[in-house]
Amino acid sequence: MATAKKWVYTFYEGNAQMKELLGGKGANLAEMTNLGLPIPMGFTITTEACTDYYKSGRKISNEIQQQIFTSLRWLEKENGKKFGDNSDPLLVSVRSGARVSMPGMMDTILNLGLNDISVKGFAQKTNNPRFAYDSYRRFIQMFSDVVMEVPKSKFEKIIDEIKEQKGVKFDIDLDVNDMKKLIKRFKALYKEAIGEEFPQDPDTQLMEAVKAVFRSWDNPRAIVYRRMNDIPGDWGTAVNIQTMVFGNMGNTSGTGVAFTRNPATGAKGIYGEYLIDAQGEDVVAGVRTPQPISKLEEDMPGCYSEFINLAHKLETHYRDMQDMEFTIQEGKLYFLQTRNGKRTAEAAINIACDLVDEGMITPEEALLRIEAKSLDQLLHPTFDAEALKAGKVIGHALPASPGSAAGKVYFTAEDAKNAAAAGERVILVRLETSPEDIEGMHAAEGILTARGGMTSHAAVVARGMGTCCVSGCNDLKVKEEEKEFELNGTVYHEGDYISLDGSTGTIYEGDIPTVEAEISGNFGCIMRWADQFRKMKVRTNADTPADTENAVRLGAEGIGLCRTEHMFFEAERIPKFRRMILSDTVEQREAALAELLPYQREDFIGMYKALRGRPMTVRFLDPPLHEFLPKTEAEMRELADSMGLTYEKVKAHCEAMHEFNPMMGLRGCRLSVIYPEISRMQTRAVIEAAIAVKKEMNYDIVPEIMVPLTGERKELLFVKNIIVETAEQVMKEQGYFLNYQVGTMIEIPRAALTADDVAKEADFFSFGTNDLTQMTFGFSRDDAGKFLDSYYEQKIYEFDPFSKLDQTGVGLLMRMAVQKGRKENPMLHCGICGEHGGDPSSVAFCQELGLDYVSCSPFRVPIARLAAAQAAINLKNKK
Ligand code: PEP
Ligand code: MG
Repeated sequence: MATAKKWVYTFYEGNAQMKELLGGKGANLAEMTNLGLPIPMGFTITTEACTDYYKSGRKISNEIQQQIFTSLRWLEKENGKKFGDNSDPLLVSVRSGARVSMPGMMDTILNLGLNDISVKGFAQKTNNPRFAYDSYRRFIQMFSDVVMEVPKSKFEKIIDEIKEQKGVKFDIDLDVNDMKKLIKRFKALYKEAIGEEFPQDPDTQLMEAVKAVFRSWDNPRAIVYRRMNDIPGDWGTAVNIQTMVFGNMGNTSGTGVAFTRNPATGAKGIYGEYLIDAQGEDVVAGVRTPQPISKLEEDMPGCYSEFINLAHKLETHYRDMQDMEFTIQEGKLYFLQTRNGKRTAEAAINIACDLVDEGMITPEEALLRIEAKSLDQLLHPTFDAEALKAGKVIGHALPASPGSAAGKVYFTAEDAKNAAAAGERVILVRLETSPEDIEGMHAAEGILTARGGMTSHAAVVARGMGTCCVSGCNDLKVKEEEKEFELNGTVYHEGDYISLDGSTGTIYEGDIPTVEAEISGNFGCIMRWADQFRKMKVRTNADTPADTENAVRLGAEGIGLCRTEHMFFEAERIPKFRRMILSDTVEQREAALAELLPYQREDFIGMYKALRGRPMTVRFLDPPLHEFLPKTEAEMRELADSMGLTYEKVKAHCEAMHEFNPMMGLRGCRLSVIYPEISRMQTRAVIEAAIAVKKEMNYDIVPEIMVPLTGERKELLFVKNIIVETAEQVMKEQGYFLNYQVGTMIEIPRAALTADDVAKEADFFSFGTNDLTQMTFGFSRDDAGKFLDSYYEQKIYEFDPFSKLDQTGVGLLMRMAVQKGRKENPMLHCGICGEHGGDPSSVAFCQELGLDYVSCSPFRVPIARLAAAQAAINLKNKK
């Protein structure tokens, strides 16, 4: 007989390696149990039970329920207490715990198991009626909010009313009778909202809570968080049922959160906060401002030293910085959780380098510890030092997430999101943030909150996103409805500029300019290690000498994509370019092109110089014409004057060139098929520039000319013949010969499907995954944003295929193209130059395909260098 599947594990049965099944929290609780740490005992319902719940139409099977109750009976024995007992009830917490931590995204219920009768027994047993009734009212509040979705604010309103009636300010001033009043009103509120009495049966409470945690895996903020962090929707969450310990039993109790190193800077040493006489959620929610952990040494020296010893033990065991939650119940210390702590990019780099120095990890492991995307934070600008001197400081608060930001003030996540979408730089100002604010926080340059400590929701989430955040500004009076805030006597309104320094916690008036970040110190060390381990080259997408300089400074090994049409965006150049497009005859077009040639050649010279011998792939013109045609009457009149034509003629010409679907219209190599003189001019510009720089600087330059939007070998050959003919002619004229290459973008599915044929004419392939994604999905790259949200909601797609490569479909085309292309032409050089070249998961996929390089925008070059190293190391470790 097959043994029944195991859906529930006690903490004795798991270990840290079982994260996929037990979630991060469950696996670490088991690991700590095995290490002999003081853990309130409990068990974990697996992530598989969560997936089963969804598969069974949101139902928990009988088998799973049975295993939960069997484990509950075991937990009763462990504690010597009965769940639902009238005189001494076992109380539990119910917490979610996915494979990777999703701070603030999932829900927790504490004090579960209390009801109208057992609360009396609990009061007697603890000899602390106020505490017992406080625990019960908290439970009703959390259960109603998390399980039944009765808004939290309704409960808070009742608390405020009772405090007002009594004339007191803090919850702590409410006595046992007030708690009883609260319970009565809470239960009435529950009945009114739900239409039933508050559940008194602890088994029902438990199963409803478990279901709520499973459901919370799919709440809208969890879905947004997953998409932002590349977490697949089918992982599910585990549920941890753990014996309650209480930090709110008086002055010898407390609760806190601490890190073994500073999560903002990486500095070694315990760093954290705690609250005396409080329950866990009070710290994280940021409702009361906590004390620094060093205060615990004064308050409870014994607990403090035990905590420090165990924290070190955990760090040495995990060989990484730990983020721990603890509770002290009447002088006895308990660990509630440990995990590898979230950290800023700066801290990640410093910690990784320190751990290598301390002999705890190897450089390869150090590289794997740093989230490649997070390097973005370090590349963000800081305030211009001179401008900062003149900046008017208007307040100080906690430096919750580093970086500098300036922007217009907005007070709701929704307003922030809309303003950012309209192109504004936004500072989101909130009393405190909650997970519902996630999209507004994401859209903001910086976040300022009145409440909350360094571990509050705003701080944790902002650090994770790399968004500058200043939190816990007690002087800040936020009036959301009036859309204004007051700080130290001055009132600021929506739309006013302020600036934030997330590294010092300083708040400034006005819009302070920022400057680029420098790469140095440990960052340089990480980049050196990355370069040592990576196999793929990292190039950049740049179209100007200045961008090229910047990219080289950030470690680019060449240009993978120079979009030549971008070289004509400037005001002085665009009319000449338009004249070229709208020319009626070859002569007119050649004349217009002759005017463009010097610009193009000079830019290429500047870029070749900035590259100092590194390679450059120049892509020939690929302007979807709608981006370049004059749109307004004034623009058309100006163009008409410059071309000696009437306005009517130009207007008629523009109308004639109108395309219904310009992205699939006259662009890419199609332009050269129709107007070969364009490719002639561009070839001349590239070859003349290369010869000039080679003569002047003696760099070894091999120009790479790239044909865009190829769909057929003969099309490529047609353009290639023009290039070869012109290049030979230019070299003859110059009396100087150099090697050059001709290759093509692979961005039309047909080119990928016929890659063996196309490779006959190509020295290299570069995957233009922006267009390849557009053409494979049939999604317009300019419009998909408008409807993709519905696809996420319906779970048809989980992420934006324009930012993260669709490995299943688009990736299959790429794989096919590389294999077919290299089979035909073993010397074929392959790279990627679509936006995906700077996305870590896509970079890993490119490594798997065996591409020679990735190319991305200048600021993503360090990210790509690290991601390429991680991909190479992971691939090696897999073998
Ligand atoms: C691409 O399509 O991926 C690409 C790099 O070209 P562009 O974005 O210029 O169309
Ligand atoms: Mg393209």
